[in-house]
Amino acid sequence: MTSAQNDEIRDVIIVGSGPSGYTAAIYTARANLKPLVIAGSVTAGGELMNTTEVENFPGFPEGIMGPDLMDNLQKQAERFGAEILFDDVTEMDLKGDIKTLSLADGTVYRARAVIVSTGSAYRELGLEDEKRLSGHGVSWCATCDGFFFREQNIAVIGGGDSAMEEALFLTKFAAKVTVVHRRSELRASKIMADRALAHEKIDFVWDSEVVGINGTDKVESIALKNLVNGSESTLDVTGIFVAIGNDPRVDLVKDQLELTAEGTIAVDGRTSKTSLPGVFAAGDVIDSTYRQAITAAGSGCAAAQDVEHYLANITTETAATV
Ligand code: NAP
Repeated sequence: MTSAQNDEIRDVIIVGSGPSGYTAAIYTARANLKPLVIAGSVTAGGELMNTTEVENFPGFPEGIMGPDLMDNLQKQAERFGAEILFDDVTEMDLKGDIKTLSLADGTVYRARAVIVSTGSAYRELGLEDEKRLSGHGVSWCATCDGFFFREQNIAVIGGGDSAMEEALFLTKFAAKVTVVHRRSELRASKIMADRALAHEKIDFVWDSEVVGINGTDKVESIALKNLVNGSESTLDVTGIFVAIGNDPRVDLVKDQLELTAEGTIAVDGRTSKTSLPGVFAAGDVIDSTYRQAITAAGSGCAAAQDVEHYLANITTETAATV
């Protein structure tokens, strides 16, 4: 393993490359702060890379594919001079005036300010066989894996927008899609819920949770429990797509930054300021309520401006003490 310390102290490093990270990069690059975006190796582009058509991002009257939107944001950030590194931060030391961020190969980057925009990770059901059969019928990404389930029966777990989106997408391939939801009412927005409820290939199993995933080498069926009357049943499916929400990705910072009761990074009011000076956070990692591409982008814009003010203030303070 090689290790290298970059002597350069950057103004700002952005960790994460979803809509918030890239928007922060566009703004800080235009402010001449020459941001480095550590974009992630497999998670670059964030959740929108796993989505299909985005119909509600303003400015695209015909909609835009999630990966195309992220590609545009990346290019826009690069156009203004953002440097983008497709690698993963493995460690951060955020205390002190100069923050250090390490990569797996030992390379260390340093900066006066950091924007944490690490987004969120898919939530798991927590069942014994979920991991074992992951990639063998259990998936969290219909756009990645739906193709493998042509003319098969598939279950989608969850009642939110993600579950409806996954279910609707999977109708392109599946013989039948069964949505299993733990309540009798969907959480999804009305437009998405209505589309799914009206679709001839989508069935719903209400008030039910998945209590087991069966199959030796690949998924053969799932065991369900009705939460109202306690009855148990088996649903024959070869694929199960879990779409039960996300948890903020805070592993790298949870011992250094204050978190909220929901597990997001705590920020000061409407700002992106975290509990440590010079550390800012944006996007889904601070948001347990709205969690839209456009709100994440707006949050990245706010973080960039907070960084600008912070850097301007420390420069003024340094000048005043000389
Ligand atoms: P979400 O809105 O939090 O919905 C999660 C769903 O999973 C809920 O129905 C929840 O049930 C269920 N659930 C949670 N934990 C569970 C468990 N352990 N077992 C079984 N079911 C469980 O998450 P999301 O659907 O990923 O959406 C996240 C955000 O992104 C939302 O703001 C959504 O509007 C947005 N989004 C928008 C679009 C779009 O506009 N096209 C697409 C995708 C996502 P309960 O309802 O009982 O809590």
